[in-house]
Amino acid sequence: MSERLDHRGRRTALNGVVAGGSDEEGPGKLLSPAAAYAIGDGINAKVLVLNKLYMAIRVISARRAFSLLLRDLAEVIHVEDGKYLSYDYETWAEISELQRQFEPERHDWVRTVHFDIAAPKVIRLFGYDRMPQQRVKLNRRNLFARDRNCCQYCARSFPTSELSIDHVIPRAQGGVDSWENLVCACVRCNARKGGRTPGQAGMSLANRPTRPRRNPLISVRLGQEKYASWKAFLDNAYWSVELK
Ligand SMILES: [Zn+2]
Repeated sequence: MSERLDHRGRRTALNGVVAGGSDEEGPGKLLSPAAAYAIGDGINAKVLVLNKLYMAIRVISARRAFSLLLRDLAEVIHVEDGKYLSYDYETWAEISELQRQFEPERHDWVRTVHFDIAAPKVIRLFGYDRMPQQRVKLNRRNLFARDRNCCQYCARSFPTSELSIDHVIPRAQGGVDSWENLVCACVRCNARKGGRTPGQAGMSLANRPTRPRRNPLISVRLGQEKYASWKAFLDNAYWSVELK
């Protein structure tokens, strides 16, 4: 059972967790005991970030979201029965206590030594009014997500470590690095295809490769009940985000 803390106590306890951990992209740093306690919990849950105008701009970890909330640079947007409610950090911490009692299964929890707080699903930045990036970056991570880790020749799924990127039209034959010419291929299919086009190798593609309209990593998450509240902010024709 968590102790009752005043506002300042809650801030201090959470600050220890937020400050002590590694960032989602960096290699793990040495963690403070408080941060170590939080690992494996909601601190790495994904949070959708909206700009001032409620447009989705990126996805970050709950750790970074809390760091923004603690500095009063952002507010929590909570979707409840189709309504959008906004909370500052203090109010969110209070509401978290009720949620902890009545609907703990609906949230990812960040544990500090003294209290638990729900990882927000969506936050909004007060001072950021730039528009979202419109184009999805062509990189290995996004490409694997677009193809859902499936080899586009044998259509079977593989762990990332067993997949490679194949140029449909080989570079030697003028193929370029583009969403339309790059696909995931398993090691076996890639070796079989060699430096040939699918036609030359007598192989065919499972799907026609195209540029995704929105970040494919987000599309994957949208299929999960946990991120259902993101949908309202993503149904936007020109929307796409960069994962930072
Ligand atoms: Zn294959």
